[in-house]
Amino acid sequence: MNARAASILSRFVVTIDGPAGSGKSTTARGVARALGLVHLDTGAMYRAVTLAALRAGIAPDDGGALERLAGRLGVELDAGVGRVCLDGEDVTEAIREPEVTRHVSAVSAHAGVRREMVRRQRRHAFEGGVVLEGRDTGSVVVPWADVRVFLVADVRARAARRAAELRARGHAVDVDAVAADLERRDGLDRSRKVGPLVEPAGAVRVDTSRCTIEEQVAAVVEAARAAADHVAGLHAPVTGPDDPRVRRRYYAAGQWLVRALGRVAFGLRVVTPMDPTLRENYIFAPNHVSNVDPFMAGCTLRREVHYMAKHTLFGVPVLGAILRSVHAFPIRRGGFDRGAMARAEALLRQGRSLMIFPEGTRQRHGGLGRARSGVGILALRTGVPVIPMYVHGSLHLGRAALRRPRIVVVHGPAIRLAPGWRLPEDSSEAQALYRRHAHSVLCAVAALRERLLGS
Ligand code: C5P
Repeated sequence: MNARAASILSRFVVTIDGPAGSGKSTTARGVARALGLVHLDTGAMYRAVTLAALRAGIAPDDGGALERLAGRLGVELDAGVGRVCLDGEDVTEAIREPEVTRHVSAVSAHAGVRREMVRRQRRHAFEGGVVLEGRDTGSVVVPWADVRVFLVADVRARAARRAAELRARGHAVDVDAVAADLERRDGLDRSRKVGPLVEPAGAVRVDTSRCTIEEQVAAVVEAARAAADHVAGLHAPVTGPDDPRVRRRYYAAGQWLVRALGRVAFGLRVVTPMDPTLRENYIFAPNHVSNVDPFMAGCTLRREVHYMAKHTLFGVPVLGAILRSVHAFPIRRGGFDRGAMARAEALLRQGRSLMIFPEGTRQRHGGLGRARSGVGILALRTGVPVIPMYVHGSLHLGRAALRRPRIVVVHGPAIRLAPGWRLPEDSSEAQALYRRHAHSVLCAVAALRERLLGS
């Protein structure tokens, strides 16, 4: 590993998800130590909220009270020594008590509780150099994590480990009862509506049923090194006209012009602009609330970008010509346009970049909508990284004209698939992954929005 890869690795975000007892904490601690990263146990945060709720006499089904509680709690994790503090009190042991374990899945299922905890977790993730472990850290919290790991293990192996842990803490345990409790908790964690336990698309899967701790840690460390080497290798000189970084003069000039207009008319500003030096093409995935979004988002990118646009627009005389000159091609709305998707896929395979709205269509209410699977299909079938983007301030431009609107475009970190990751052959499994990946992309867009707006 060269110096550039080592420096990239030191800022990495690694996520480790999996069912109870799959070895997440042990692995995460080992990986953090081996790579010099900070360890963040997100399960401990949900446990701390649960402990506080039990003490305050709040019922595990009282979502409103739990959300208010989560919002005001001071939960601190001291990764170095592995201590957890709740409003200054050391609760490291208390949060592992069976009473907390029994109720934690019910408490953590509430959307309001998760929103609060996820916001805190993302703050750490945006700083980089961290290993997060939990249930949804690679799918919802940090979908752009440089390495997303999913641990699996058969339930007997998991129960045996958990039982040994409990015995070491002086509890009398029955392995069958522990296995039943693990399955009950997994069932709740998998079936909840918000942030369920799922294997993120493009993740590295490690089966720990018959692994030693050293082997588990080594598998993740190796995956992280491979990912860092991959990114370091993208800093390569431009090879020729087909290089994905090459912009023709007229295209770059057009982007510059639109950007200048955007600055004058709408105070356009770019936050965390993409690194244009990597030899990669991308799928750019912004939110969409206004017709100016493709222009405002597209002019900030240091790539030639292809777009899909409503086919009816191509019949409008001047507009049709403009659209073609910015590499737009027609898509038929209402239903799935196979031809347009095939064309998008072919372009991506040729090393071209594409912009696609993960919500599929404009959200006239101005907020974020639900993900459509398109972005997931294209990303998982081609392996092209997705750059989530957030466009702020483009709604009601007409009305805002008098007070000079400010449009802000945020570029997110690239969401890459693990090197060598393959789409499953089974088509229903693949469909589920398309939807899941699209949802993760939208979660990343939501994270950018949250960071920009501070809420
Ligand atoms: O990992 P641990 O077993 O300590 O997590 C306790 C519980 O916290 C889990 O069973 C799950 O219900 C919840 N959790 C979660 N999301 C996470 C981490 C943990 O819902 N990211």
